[in-house]
Amino acid sequence: MSDSYDVIVIGGGPAGYPAAIRAGQNKLSVACIDGWKNYDGSYAFGGTCLNAGCIPSKALLESSELFHRAGHEFKAHGISLSALKMDVAAMQKRKAGIVKGMTGGIASLLKANGVTALQGVGRLMPGRKVEYTAPDGTKKELSARFVVLASGSVPMPLKTAAFDGKHIVDSWGALEFDAVPERLGVIGAGVIGLELGSVWARLGAKVTVLEAMDGFLPMADRQLANEALKQFTKQGLEIKLGAKVSAAAVAGKAVAVTYTDAKGEKQAEFDKLVVAIGRKPYTDGLLAEGTGVELDARGFIQVDAHCRTATPDVFAVGDCVRGPMLAHKAKEEGVMVADLIAGLYGHTNYDAIPSVIYTAPEMAWVGKTEEQAKASGVTVKTGVFPFVASGRARAMEAPSGFAKIVADAVTDQVLGVHIIGPMAGELIGEAVLALEYSASCEDLQRTIHAHPTLSEAVHEAALAADKRAIDMLNR
Ligand code: FAD
Ligand code: NAD
Repeated sequence: MSDSYDVIVIGGGPAGYPAAIRAGQNKLSVACIDGWKNYDGSYAFGGTCLNAGCIPSKALLESSELFHRAGHEFKAHGISLSALKMDVAAMQKRKAGIVKGMTGGIASLLKANGVTALQGVGRLMPGRKVEYTAPDGTKKELSARFVVLASGSVPMPLKTAAFDGKHIVDSWGALEFDAVPERLGVIGAGVIGLELGSVWARLGAKVTVLEAMDGFLPMADRQLANEALKQFTKQGLEIKLGAKVSAAAVAGKAVAVTYTDAKGEKQAEFDKLVVAIGRKPYTDGLLAEGTGVELDARGFIQVDAHCRTATPDVFAVGDCVRGPMLAHKAKEEGVMVADLIAGLYGHTNYDAIPSVIYTAPEMAWVGKTEEQAKASGVTVKTGVFPFVASGRARAMEAPSGFAKIVADAVTDQVLGVHIIGPMAGELIGEAVLALEYSASCEDLQRTIHAHPTLSEAVHEAALAADKRAIDMLNR
């Protein structure tokens, strides 16, 4: 193993491994050090996303959605089933297989791109030196012309409901349940609370979500958030807004939770409690004294718009820096810095990062909400197309939700797109491209969308913005 590289990347998640692969593609010598350790002690590349986030959660969302549809929707198609049963162990085995395949795939990709993949811990020292500690504890000093920090994030703990790993768990714990809890409590009605709450609710758990804020999904367009709250409530997800947890105590096999809402102090009892109140940047042990890399007040590594830290030739990307904690944002930053290091053009468009919540109905958006567009002083026009008017959505037995376009009424430029409904996460791709290309409503209106597809909802929403929708009444 050489001790000196063009680039050393610390962290092998969605920020770090693309940075390493792209640097390899750019013909630079690269090492990527990753310390992710699974519950069984094995090491795996891919970080939170592949091991305990995006991928396992989507595997469980798919399984639980199929189970739910088999129980609730198949009848409408004329399909009858007897004795529908969920085998949680088989579901978890499938998920583990997907995770193993994907993380193994990253190790192969690193190798194929000439990256030296090192499992263990990396620590930045002054002078772009990196101390590498191997799994057996041996240490080695490496050096690089450039260092990329991609150490990610970890769940935020809650003092009043401390994790015990068994009854009070974080999102990773909630992905590993070996049985459906009868009563599941979730603290935080954010992305994780809704996705994992949905998984276990579809499998039969009585799910209660305790959210401290009075508003639901404050980052989303109000019309979309209101529709989502209506749909989740209809599905039986109990979402209590303005609920502040003051204590959680494990008593026997249950967790007793005390919380306060507008009506005063309340008690609730759950078999499992998931704390999902956000994540915090992880930089423990990452920076030795004197590196010059600075953290902000919330613990994020401080960077400029091109992910440069205060130390020359040291970059930081992904969840450990400002911006949304999303795998695709992390990946884009990783690729950007690998290109900048190679002297190529590199840029991340922070105004066109899509958000997706993989519930049913799915939610996805990009750009400005109607409220944000109005607050920015723009004269706004909107177009909304409900999926109940989409032939494809009806055929799919998925008629709830809508696609909404927010545009500048004067210039016609599309400012934001907000979708709640079937395959919203796939449909948003067109909207991201529209924003990337500064498209107008007219551009979307003149783009032919195949029939019958869900994407026609985006087309019709663009038409509706000018009161010229074809497949619904214009209001
Ligand atoms: P991480 O993925 O956290 O990777 C950092 C890596 O660095 C880890 O392997 C860590 O062990 C390693 N590391 C840290 N310090 C060191 C060190 N000193 N030496 C060596 N290695 C080190 N995002 C989406 O876009 N879509 C989703 O659907 C989605 N679903 C999610 C579901 C859940 C349940 C969770 C928890 C998150 C989800 N996310 C999702 C968020 C996504 O996982 C993160 O945004 C993404 O993983 C960030 O990538 P990263 O590389 O910055 O950090
Ligand atoms: P989040 O920020 O999405 O939601 C946390 C929620 O908890 C918020 O609604 C917040 O108001 C609430 N909260 C905070 N403190 C509380 C308290 N003491 N009591 C009750 N509620 C409280 O965070 P998350 O759901 O933990 O997810 C973490 C990160 O992971 C997010 O930034 C998200 O982007 C990412 N993630 C993304 C996806 C996806 O892209 N589909 C899926 C899962 C996670």
